[in-house]
Amino acid sequence: MSHWFDIQQMEEGVFMLLEPGHVQSYLVLGNDRAALIDTGMGFTDIRQAVASVTGLPVMVLNTHWHFDHIGGNCLFSDIRIAACESELLVQPVTSGYLRKVYADPCRMSGVPLPADFDADAWEINSPPPTASLTDGDTIDLGGRLLHVMETPGHTRGSLSFWDERTAALFCGDFIYNGTLYAHFTDSDLAAYRASLNILESMDIRKIFTCHNEPELPSRFIGNCLDAVTAVLEGTAKGRQVDDWGAPAVRYDFGSLAVLAKCQDSPGIDLLACMA
Ligand SMILES: [Zn+2]
Repeated sequence: MSHWFDIQQMEEGVFMLLEPGHVQSYLVLGNDRAALIDTGMGFTDIRQAVASVTGLPVMVLNTHWHFDHIGGNCLFSDIRIAACESELLVQPVTSGYLRKVYADPCRMSGVPLPADFDADAWEINSPPPTASLTDGDTIDLGGRLLHVMETPGHTRGSLSFWDERTAALFCGDFIYNGTLYAHFTDSDLAAYRASLNILESMDIRKIFTCHNEPELPSRFIGNCLDAVTAVLEGTAKGRQVDDWGAPAVRYDFGSLAVLAKCQDSPGIDLLACMA
């Protein structure tokens, strides 16, 4: 059994599967089945980590198609994502790309990797989704409902999941006390603002994120909304930066930042990078 995952209980029936320094996935337990919200980096077997918590059948709910959220998809048979990201999900992520953009920089900067990790063999190949998810869908885990929300902005098909029992929101890469990434080809700042406006009107007690601080109070919805609005309305001053080898504009707001596309730029094409 790998000791890579740091498993922490966050709420009744809610467990965080933390890959230290990288990403966190979440396991939500009902009476009849469990939802695994994202499957992490694929460095090592997340299914074993899940099995150490529950023997319930597991469905994977992907918040979006980015490789650091789908690395363990290949270990599961029930995988769900927004319909518009079904084809993106199955694009193979090659070991050459992963080593170049991720594993080698992690090694050089001292970000931890599993002791037995072989970057040359690391590939991410998700099977096709078994179902697509739409705004308003409910996932019945048995005595526990997860509500599916479309929250486009980071990507076109970004999803969040609201747990009725705890009023917690699992938001993928959508909200952070850190940098909001809105500089990809399928990112959309106006959609980001619209999604945040909808979340502002909901009964959300806390937010579980996939990077940085895992648990945030609901006021971060308003904080992110203020930041994105300032960028859209031109009241914030940005500076050009390089991110993933391409130019973007960074706007800083204290602990928050927004990375946006440069004017006249289509944004960073992750698919092209992965080819
Ligand atoms: Zn992402």
